[in-house]
Amino acid sequence: MIVPDPRRKWLAAAVPALLMLMLAPLAIKRLGRLPQTPAATQAAAPMPSPVPASAAAGSGSETPNIKINAARAMQYVREVVAFGPRPIGSEAHRKLEAYLAAHLAGVTIERDDFTASTPNGSFPIHNIIAKFPGTKPGIVVIATHYDTLMRVKGFVGANDGGSGTGLLLELANQLRTGKRSGYSVWLVWLDGEEAVRQWSATDSTYGSRHLAEGWQKDGTIRQLKAFLLADMIGDADLNIDRDQNSTAWLEDLVYEAATKLGYQSHFFARGIAIEDDHIPFAKAGAPVADLIDFDYGYNNVFWHTPQDTLDKLSPKSLAITGEVLLETVRLLDQK
Ligand SMILES: [Zn+2]
Repeated sequence: MIVPDPRRKWLAAAVPALLMLMLAPLAIKRLGRLPQTPAATQAAAPMPSPVPASAAAGSGSETPNIKINAARAMQYVREVVAFGPRPIGSEAHRKLEAYLAAHLAGVTIERDDFTASTPNGSFPIHNIIAKFPGTKPGIVVIATHYDTLMRVKGFVGANDGGSGTGLLLELANQLRTGKRSGYSVWLVWLDGEEAVRQWSATDSTYGSRHLAEGWQKDGTIRQLKAFLLADMIGDADLNIDRDQNSTAWLEDLVYEAATKLGYQSHFFARGIAIEDDHIPFAKAGAPVADLIDFDYGYNNVFWHTPQDTLDKLSPKSLAITGEVLLETVRLLDQK
C-alpha cells in the first residue's frame, strides 16, 4: 500500500507552512486543524489541553458515551492473524472470509465478487459490505482491507490487514444493537488492496477500484456522506497521520471527534500524502478520510516485513481509532 515518495513528504512539510503564512490573518481559528509538521506545531497557538477519555466519556450531552470493547477487538485481530498469511487466492484468505461471514450472521450483507487480472494472473476478489440502516437518507462507509501482502514470505499482517479487520468486527457489534437514528452505516471489508508485485495504479487496490466503479455506475457514490478508511491502526505507539489526499473538511471532523474524546495527541502530528483504498472513492467524488499510522516502528521499519506481528499492537489503539470513527459518524449525523 501507500507510496509517500520523498517529494510528497517535502510538499507535506512545506504546504502547511506556506498556508500559515498566506492565511496569517485567518490563522488563529484554523491553526489547530491545519496539517501539522513538528516545526509548525511549535509555532502554533497552544492546543486545547487534553481531556482524559474517562472524563470525556458521557460528560454532558455534548459527548456521547461511545465505548469500544478493546479486549474483544484485540481478540478478533488475534483470531484473524491466526489464519496465517492471507493473500488473495490463498486458503487462509478463504477461511477468513468464512470467519467474517460467521461473525456477521444476521446482518444484511452484500458482496462484490469479481476476478481481477494481475501481473501474476487472475485472482478472485471479494469485497464484503455489511449494512446497518439508519433513519436519515445518506450513507457513511467505514472501510478497511482484509487481504495481506503476497510477496513477503511469512507476512501475517497483524497491523496491515489484521487491525482494521478486527476493529470493524467490533464496530459491527456496536452497530447491530438497535436501529440507528442517523445515516446508514456500511462496514466494508475490502479485498485485494495489496500489490501482487509492485505498487502501481494498476497493481494495487483491486477491490476498492472495482467497488468505487460499481457505486459510480449505480449512483451509490452520490449517497455517500463520507468514506472513512482504517488501515494500520493497531500500533501500540499510535500516531495517525493527516493524509493530504483525503478531504480536508472530513479530516477536520475526524480531528474534532478525536479532540472531543481526548485522543487528539494520537492524531495528525504529521501530514503526508497517502495512496490507499480511499483514492478510488475520492476520484469518484466522495468525501474521504484515511485513518492510517504510517510510522510503524521507527521509520516505519515493521511495515511489510515478517515483523508485522501481534506483539507490536495494543487493544487501546484499536479502541481509540474505533471510538473516533464512531464519534465522527455521530458528528456527521448532526451536520
Ligand atoms: Zn500493506
